[in-house]
Amino acid sequence: MIGVLESMATTMKHALSGETFTVAYPEEEPEVSPRFRGVHRFSRERCIWCRQCESVCPNNTIQIVTGEGRTGEQYTLQIGQCLYCRLCEEVCPVEAIVLTRNFEVVADTRAELAYDEDELGAVSWYDEDIDPLAAREPDREARDGDVDYR
Ligand code: SF4
Ligand code: SF4
Repeated sequence: MIGVLESMATTMKHALSGETFTVAYPEEEPEVSPRFRGVHRFSRERCIWCRQCESVCPNNTIQIVTGEGRTGEQYTLQIGQCLYCRLCEEVCPVEAIVLTRNFEVVADTRAELAYDEDELGAVSWYDEDIDPLAAREPDREARDGDVDYR
């Protein structure tokens, strides 16, 4: 009972303060946490086609096709089924796949949610001033030095 009264008091406190937490999206851009995990950005230049991201992904969101001698031929990410668990980003040894803060995914069909490497390469960071990987891993520079993956 005390817990219910406490939660009601908290609700009333915020309701009466006049503070708003919602924005009129899409006219207004919402604030996104620096650590938010959004749509992936892929760099063909950085990728060494080791396929670790594909192996670690728990639900086959990533599909890679390689040719002779581990040359990359195709990188597809089914963004509609991604769990945003970030395992692919963590396992990648060269930071070729990074989750941006971009949450804007729109499609009419399921096929449109299969992003190829060109589409993944064109995903915007949402806010250029915030480095999402550095925000999620504040000790990263000490470990790896200053890595310019962007
Ligand atoms: S974030 Fe998780 S589910 Fe999504 S592609 Fe990466 S490993 Fe797969
Ligand atoms: S783990 Fe990184 S380098 Fe390896 S295939 Fe995936 S994106 Fe490319």
